[in-house]
Amino acid sequence: MTQSRREFLKRTAALSAAAYVGVTLPFDEKGLVYAASETVWHRGSCRLCGVGCRVELGVKNGTPVALRGVPESRTNFGYVCMKGMHFWKVMNHADRLTTPLYRASKKDKFKPISWDEALDIAADKFATAVKEHGNDSVAYYGSGQALTEETYFFQKMFRGGLQTNNVEGNPRLCMASAVGGYLTSFGADEPIGGYADIEKADCIFIIGSNMAEAHPVVFRRVMRRKLDNPDVTVINADPRISLTSRIADIHLQFHPGTDLALLNAMAHVIVKEKLYDEAFLKDYVAIKKGKAVSIDFAEYEQFLEKYTPEYAAKIMGGKVTPDQIREVARRFATSKGTLSFWTMGLNQRKQGVWANNLVHNLHILTGQLLKEGADSLSLTGQPNACGGVREGGGLCHILPGHRLVAKEKLRNQVEEAWGIPKGRIPPKPGYHTMAMFTAVNEKKIKAMWVHCTSPVQSLPNCNLYNEGMAKDDCFMVCTDIFPTLTTELAANLILPTAFHFEKTGVYGCTERRSQITRKAIDPPKGAKPEVWIIREWGRKLAEKLNDPVIAQCIKPFEGLEEGYELPKAIWDEYSQKLTKGRDNDLRGASYEVLEQMYDGVQWPAPTEAFALTGGTVKKFVRGMDPMADSHGKDDKPYQFYGPAHPDQKLWLWQRPQADPEEIPDAEYPFYLSTGRIIDHWHTMSMTGRVKELLRANPYSYIEVNPADAKRMGIKPGDMVEITSRRGTNIMPAKVYEGPIEGMVFAYWHDQHPDRMINKVTKDAYDPGSKEPEFKICACRIKRVSGPKALKPYIV
Ligand code: SF4
Repeated sequence: MTQSRREFLKRTAALSAAAYVGVTLPFDEKGLVYAASETVWHRGSCRLCGVGCRVELGVKNGTPVALRGVPESRTNFGYVCMKGMHFWKVMNHADRLTTPLYRASKKDKFKPISWDEALDIAADKFATAVKEHGNDSVAYYGSGQALTEETYFFQKMFRGGLQTNNVEGNPRLCMASAVGGYLTSFGADEPIGGYADIEKADCIFIIGSNMAEAHPVVFRRVMRRKLDNPDVTVINADPRISLTSRIADIHLQFHPGTDLALLNAMAHVIVKEKLYDEAFLKDYVAIKKGKAVSIDFAEYEQFLEKYTPEYAAKIMGGKVTPDQIREVARRFATSKGTLSFWTMGLNQRKQGVWANNLVHNLHILTGQLLKEGADSLSLTGQPNACGGVREGGGLCHILPGHRLVAKEKLRNQVEEAWGIPKGRIPPKPGYHTMAMFTAVNEKKIKAMWVHCTSPVQSLPNCNLYNEGMAKDDCFMVCTDIFPTLTTELAANLILPTAFHFEKTGVYGCTERRSQITRKAIDPPKGAKPEVWIIREWGRKLAEKLNDPVIAQCIKPFEGLEEGYELPKAIWDEYSQKLTKGRDNDLRGASYEVLEQMYDGVQWPAPTEAFALTGGTVKKFVRGMDPMADSHGKDDKPYQFYGPAHPDQKLWLWQRPQADPEEIPDAEYPFYLSTGRIIDHWHTMSMTGRVKELLRANPYSYIEVNPADAKRMGIKPGDMVEITSRRGTNIMPAKVYEGPIEGMVFAYWHDQHPDRMINKVTKDAYDPGSKEPEFKICACRIKRVSGPKALKPYIV
């Protein structure tokens, strides 16, 4: 960078003045200090979805003023979406929480208290619960939006300190079926490839995902690929016409819950027409059914026999034809590289793991895996569901580094890394999310910490669980930046936290990519970074329980400054000790390395030298993945070393079509499905406070197919009541050919009690992943009035 003489003088003068008064001025990458009146750009990640876009926050005079994409990033190449562009505007919002708030009873009003009092109360309530009701009477419920350092430190305190595996997080509600699918099909969680396959793919198969709205920057890369290469095939399988389906060459539109039949029928065509990769199957694949019982190819072929395209098309209904199924199977199998994407449409299902297995099956059968442009890639919803919760030990059955709680050897490794006695971590997994909130209803959980999420709005069938959360039997601490429906209904203690760019930490996005965001500005006075809160709470907890092991859990972090040193020490402990030798080996991805990289590091990355190349683009491929080289069992090019498959093979699964928990009947004749829109994020506590985003989409509506609307006498804008066996909403009708006839759709972000769609959704869950079936339930609709003026609602 060259500087004019004027710029040089300005910076030199600023530096001298700063040294005189003892303040630190912002430096750019080349160590040049900028005068305070200039905008300084700080690199980090977007705070919102799981795409993981790299951005720069512009700060002027200590205040955020703008945001831009990082062109050098291989994640987003400088592009950001509308909500990503605006998220920084919440940082100085007047509603930011800036002092701890306490109420002894949930019927009382909150009163401001000091941090010392707040942490004392929090420690006292958790200690009392443990003493009076046992270790499993306390619980942590976290978030895929928390930094890895936060999730890791929280779970360490609960497992190692409080001796409970009641550690869960909202990724249970969105990604657990993808985890189950990857583990059972490939033996290892998370995708093999990444976004780089988009630019090489010749067939892109998108199922159960409106990625145009939910993952807009990745979708932009898909669009670019298609626009530049019109011969690339885009297939969309979804019951709803969406912005995603509009670019598809083939859109398969069918009744919700019938896609397992589609995926088996595609396999049927591939097998019948001998489009499978025989050599790949012979070298790398075992075939399973039930609880991993081995079968041979002939038995699998026999199982597929009934899934003719005609049979599947009949089950699926809608507009799908047998010839369309044949066509998509052929294109999938014969393209130079086929890349699948899916997200909640498959995951949030009673058969979520099976649906994931069946997509993986198509890739395994055809060998559309591991080569350029081919992958079976589950899109992650939240920015750190992968990095923090899946990798950092944020679910009740997993410890850091993809270790299972149930395995003693793996528990002992963690105990040794933490310097705590063997046997300290209990052997039994804790409550999964739905069981945890059931336990709150049953008054078994006496103290609960909810971090950076709002279960009052985001749990399915939320009325049922809100009853328990509203009672004083469970003392609830909430850490957040804004009031939410959960803080209002269920919290006893609200602890105000620092926001993104007000603290330092790592996010791990969809494609195994870890990226650091450094603190760029101070949080509002009174708000604190979570890692400081956990450490200070832990110290008081150790005193109240007179437990030196709890003190040992925080000992490595004592005395460290919380803006950088403390999260760095936590990251070092996690990455160096807990990922060593694991499939997500991150030892090379030190803070120093992550800060040098525009777009972070893809694991495995066991050494700094390798991490500085960007890490592993394709897992399991010799020459690309250092773990494939070091864990190789023979001289074949692919080595499947994942921890869940001792035979080091991919598993092809026999999984039948199965109905969702509820299907329409005479009383509830419609399917209801829910999802996201591009302008809002989760429970809208952030995006609802950005006026540009709120104006774009001020409140939810119910999408009704025109044929259904005509039959029901519903006109655009009419107020419509949506009722299921669990609850009722009233919202305006949007009449258009989005949902297939017989189906309605609503987005789930709206906080208003009349439009909070999770009062209506169903809480049945997948028996393997325990992920609820948000995507499908039965409902009825009724016109209640003509259009009404509505106001947006933010608590
Ligand atoms: S696509 Fe996701 S990560 Fe990228 S800018 Fe938008 S919200 Fe942020």
